[in-house]
Amino acid sequence: PTFDSLNLDARLLQSLAKSKYLEPTPVQAQVIPLAIEGRNILAKSKTGSGKTAAYVLPCIQAILEAKAHGSKSKGISVLVLVPTHELSDQVARTFASLSEFCGKEVRALNLNQKASASVLAAKLNETPDVLVSTPGKVAQLLTSSTLSLSTIAKVIIDEADRVLSYGHEEDIEKISKAVPAGIQTFLISATLTPEVDQLRSTFAQDYAVVDV
Ligand code: AMP
Repeated sequence: PTFDSLNLDARLLQSLAKSKYLEPTPVQAQVIPLAIEGRNILAKSKTGSGKTAAYVLPCIQAILEAKAHGSKSKGISVLVLVPTHELSDQVARTFASLSEFCGKEVRALNLNQKASASVLAAKLNETPDVLVSTPGKVAQLLTSSTLSLSTIAKVIIDEADRVLSYGHEEDIEKISKAVPAGIQTFLISATLTPEVDQLRSTFAQDYAVVDV
């Protein structure tokens, strides 16, 4: 398939062309249509496969569609959980580059950036569309009531096996209780460990499984 055949917004096609992404990688070709259909997805996929854009593109697409239908920004709609600060930074940059032609319609905030608590609170007050973070930072902001996740429509756990190996079970449990029930869930993991299997049921029931 081509990116043109995936029903993506023209502004996304523009950024893909600029990034020299000529055609979808296998994980992108499988994940993007399922994501746009609204399915929950469990994808076995590792770094280098193009897994990041596989979830970033449908997330941006959904934000653009929600705004086109006149829903004035009702708050943060996408939460991406990652194992490390480096990946948090990398994913936030992928959101920024793939939404380059979307003006101010899509704003991603990296909660792990080096910033004082007050600077971060100010940025949160500007209501980003997307939060990218380690579970620890999200849990901390929930505890201090600096953050509400009541408007979240999609949660993505990237490198889920690593997230769990860092002992984030409690943080994830706390986060799962703070998001609305029944939200669209993407779990991306290089390995499908029993822990990842347990995580599945924390957020959703039925998943489309993608293994490329
Ligand atoms: P990831 O697996 O998400 O860490 O991506 C690995 C690398 O592949 C990154 O440097 C991306 O910029 C690049 N990439 C992702 N999707 C594509 C694509 N469709 N065509 C070319 N490069 C891509």
